[in-house]
Amino acid sequence: MSDWTRQVDEAVDRLEVRLRDVGKELFEHPELKYEEVRASRRLAAELEAAGFDVELGVAGIETAIRAVHPAASDGPTVAILGEYDALPEIGHACGHNLIAAGALGAAVAVGSIKPGLPGTLVFFGTPAEEGGGGKVRMIEAGLFEGVDAAMMFHPSSYTTIGRGSLAITEVKIEFRGKPAHASGCPEKGINALDAVIQTFNGINALRQHIKDGARIHGIISHGGVKPNIVPEYAAAEFYVRAPENDYRDELLQKLRRCAEGAALATGARLEYGLVGHAYRAMKPNKVLGERFLKHLVAAGIPYNPPKDNSMGSTDMGDVSQVVPGIHPYVQICEEDVAGHSREFTTASGSERGYRAMLAAAKALARTAVDVLSEPGLAARIREEFEAT
Ligand SMILES: [Zn+2]
Repeated sequence: MSDWTRQVDEAVDRLEVRLRDVGKELFEHPELKYEEVRASRRLAAELEAAGFDVELGVAGIETAIRAVHPAASDGPTVAILGEYDALPEIGHACGHNLIAAGALGAAVAVGSIKPGLPGTLVFFGTPAEEGGGGKVRMIEAGLFEGVDAAMMFHPSSYTTIGRGSLAITEVKIEFRGKPAHASGCPEKGINALDAVIQTFNGINALRQHIKDGARIHGIISHGGVKPNIVPEYAAAEFYVRAPENDYRDELLQKLRRCAEGAALATGARLEYGLVGHAYRAMKPNKVLGERFLKHLVAAGIPYNPPKDNSMGSTDMGDVSQVVPGIHPYVQICEEDVAGHSREFTTASGSERGYRAMLAAAKALARTAVDVLSEPGLAARIREEFEAT
């Protein structure tokens, strides 16, 4: 074990009480996308106390953070990313409180020895992963320019590296028909709800003929007001996902034709819109990921990949398309616990969750030290990124 590795491990150990407290504070005060005022302030204060040059409110987002360690010199730039938004109604069911605490621990631990290391260390506090695309806006603002390695970890019911993510686009479909008494004069109405239902039926027929791994799933967000009024307005929202950005775009066209067909069949007028977030697929960096895994195992978390290759979507996908990046998963609960469930929320506030967070902090810190100090490593990471 190198001296630096030992030193960042010891730094995380020293920070343990504080990191647990950060994780707990966020857990007990879950904040939705772009409303993470308390979380971002706490993280900014901790980073400032650790000597970082902190900007809270970057990229035009009140709750986004860029914190650069002042001991910067020639060499690679390593970014450690922390998410901190929660989900509606079920709190930290994605464990972002642990991501924030672990990323903070890693950044502060590496910061404690940064004067002895070359390169630049930056912490990014990235809001609104859950459907808000904070990282996408931070990329657009140029914050990731010059970054040689961007790294974070994500809590999971498995421990794995190299898993991709699905490209995603959120679509809203609205139909406008004509109201009429549903019993007295139904022939005078145009049923917008029927158009929505026809759209779902079209998509369900399409489903048999789409590639494995792609996903189209939706809800009816508005279905009329009363059974005795022919629905004048109805709306649905869909997420369209695929392992490749191009195939996601192809599916969007197919979905649109399902909606257009439904409009034609029912006479309702279609309004089709891409709304909310669109994330690109993940390009996980192997060199960086394997290094993280080695350190994670050394920190006491065994490798335990899932049997299947099911994936979600994340704006870390976008980051991984512009700079080399990793988004490894670290197990915090039993394998049968689903993400975005109440059971996962419980795990995100559990002793096992906090222990996994501390191990992930060490693994991130050690990986950052490697990239900053090991000759040729940043170049190998870059080489793989360019080649894939
Ligand atoms: Zn998440």
